[in-house]
Amino acid sequence: MTHIRLPEPDRAIVARRDQITADLIAIAGRDAVISDEDGRRAFETDALTSYRRMPLAVVLPETTETIANILRYCHTQGVKVIARGAGTSLAGGALPAEDAVVVGISKMNRVLDIDLPGRTMRVQTGITNVSITAAVAPDGFFYAPDPSSQLACTLAGNLGMNSGGAHCLKYGVTTNNVLGVRMVLMTGEIVDIGGPYVDAAGLDLLSLVIGSEGQMGIITEATVRIIRAAEGARPMLLGFDSSEAAGRCVSAIIASGIIPVAIEFMDRPAIEVCEAYAKAGYPLDCEALLIIEVEGSETEITERLEQMLELAKPFRPSSHAISSGPDQSAKIWKGRKSAFGALGRIADYYCMDGTIPLGRLPEVLTAISQICTSYGLRVANIFHAGDGNLHPLIMFDANDPASEQRAEQAGSDILALCVEVGGCLTGEHGVGIEKRDLMAKQFNADDLRVQMRLKSVFDPGWLLNPAKVFPLDADQRGDLPAMRSSTLPAAA
Ligand SMILES: Cc1cc2nc3c(=O)[nH]c(=O)nc-3n(C[C@H](O)[C@H](O)[C@H](O)COP(=O)(O)OP(=O)(O)OC[C@H]3O[C@@H](n4cnc5c(N)ncnc54)[C@H](O)[C@@H]3O)c2cc1C
Repeated sequence: MTHIRLPEPDRAIVARRDQITADLIAIAGRDAVISDEDGRRAFETDALTSYRRMPLAVVLPETTETIANILRYCHTQGVKVIARGAGTSLAGGALPAEDAVVVGISKMNRVLDIDLPGRTMRVQTGITNVSITAAVAPDGFFYAPDPSSQLACTLAGNLGMNSGGAHCLKYGVTTNNVLGVRMVLMTGEIVDIGGPYVDAAGLDLLSLVIGSEGQMGIITEATVRIIRAAEGARPMLLGFDSSEAAGRCVSAIIASGIIPVAIEFMDRPAIEVCEAYAKAGYPLDCEALLIIEVEGSETEITERLEQMLELAKPFRPSSHAISSGPDQSAKIWKGRKSAFGALGRIADYYCMDGTIPLGRLPEVLTAISQICTSYGLRVANIFHAGDGNLHPLIMFDANDPASEQRAEQAGSDILALCVEVGGCLTGEHGVGIEKRDLMAKQFNADDLRVQMRLKSVFDPGWLLNPAKVFPLDADQRGDLPAMRSSTLPAAA
C-alpha cells in the first residue's frame, strides 16, 4: 500500500548526513550509532511494511541523559527525530524518514525497582511487555496490558500507542496501568510526570503523554501498576451459527454488568487459520467463535461460566467447551495471540483497528462484510469484542497493486463507518501514518487545532515523529504556521 503521502525529505539535512552522524557519535559514542546502509536498513520500516524509508542515522542510547543530549543537539540543528521501540507498530507509527534520526530505546531495558507492597514497578521503557510480567510472576503478580505482540513490543511503544490486549477488558489498557513516566523533551529537558501514587497533583499530563505516538517527547522510564494474579483463570469456547448471534451475545454479556477478563471474537476464516496453526480445539463447524475467560477461585470460575452460558442461551450457541486445564488454556490463547501471523501464512492482509459502541456490533460486522465484498476482497475478523475494538484483516494480493489499493480503500471505509456509528478511528494501534488523513473525519478543525497546539507546547519546532497523527494538509487550514515558534529553526 503506497498511496499514503509522505513529505519530501529536507535535502539540506540529508546533505549534512556525514556531519550529523559524526556529531551523534561524539554525543552518544561510536557503539551507539548505526550509520552504514545495511545497519540502517534494519530500521527502514515497522509492521506496516508496505512503507519503507531509510533513516538518516539510528542511535541506540543507554541513558536518559544521552537521549537528552541527542534531542538538544537535533533541536538546535533542526533535525527531526523518530522514537522507536521494537518497530511492531501496525499503523506506521515508527516509520523512519530520510531526513530524520531514529532514536531506539531497545538498550534501555532494565527493571529499576519492584515494590510489591505498593504494587508498583519502575522500569526502563525499552523492556519488552512480556518481561515486565516475567520479573514479578514468581511473586504472583503481573502487568495487565497484553498485546499479542508482547514477546517483541516494548513498554515504550505501548506507551506511545496506549496499547491494549485480550485481557484489557477487565484491567484496562496501558493508560490505566501506568502511574508515572520520565520523558525527554525535544529541547533536552528531562521531566517527571506522575509518580508511584494515584492521581498526581496538577494537570493530568500523564493522560496526555500516554498514546501521544512519539509526538511529545521520548519516554525513558515508567512506573507501572502490578496486579496480584487471580487464583485461577479458565477460558470457554462458544460457537455460533452467525457472526450476528455472537455479536448479540457479547452485547448481552456486557449489558448484564458481568465483566469477564476477556471476550475475544473470531469469524470462520479466522477460526480456520488459527486452528490450523495452534490446534487449540476451536470448533470448525460454526460461523463465529467467542473465547470468554473468567478468573477467581474454582467455585467462582464455575459459577461465572454458568452465568455466561445462561446469558448466551437466547443466541443459541452451536457448541460450547470449557478449557480442560492449563495446557489447553495456553493453546487457546496461543491460537488467538498468533492470529495475525497465522493469517499471514495464507494471504497478505491489512490489519484495521477501530472501535465501536458495543450495541452496534452485529450491524457493523454485517456492514464490514458488505464493504469488503463490494471491493472483491475477503475479510477475517478477529478482535477484542468486549471492548468493541475491531480488527478486520482485509486480505489482498501484494503482487497486485490494484488489489492492494482496494484493500486500503475498504479499510478507510470501515474506519469511516466506525466513526459514523459513534466509535473511533483507533482502538489500540494508534494513528501513525495510516489513519492520519482520516483524523478530519473524527475531529473538526477546532478539535484538531487544540491537539496541535498541545504538541507545539512540547515540540515547538515540530521535529518529533513528523508526518504522523496530524493530517499533512493541516497547515493549509491556516492552523500550523501560527502555532510554531518563530524563534526556533524552520520546522518540517
Ligand atoms: C503481530 C502483531 C500483533 C499485535 N497485537 C497488538 C495488540 O494485541 N494490541 C495492541 O495494542 N497492539 C498490537 N500490535 C501493535 C504493536 O505491537 C503495538 O502498537 C506496540 O505497542 C508497539 O510497540 P513497539 O515497541 O514495537 O513500538 P514501535 O512500533 O517502535 O513504536 C510505536 C509508537 O511509539 C512511539 N515510541 C516508541 N518509543 C517511544 C518512546 N521511548 N517514547 C515515546 N514514544 C515512543 C513511536 O514513535 C511510535 O509512534 C500488534 C502488532 C503486531 C505486529
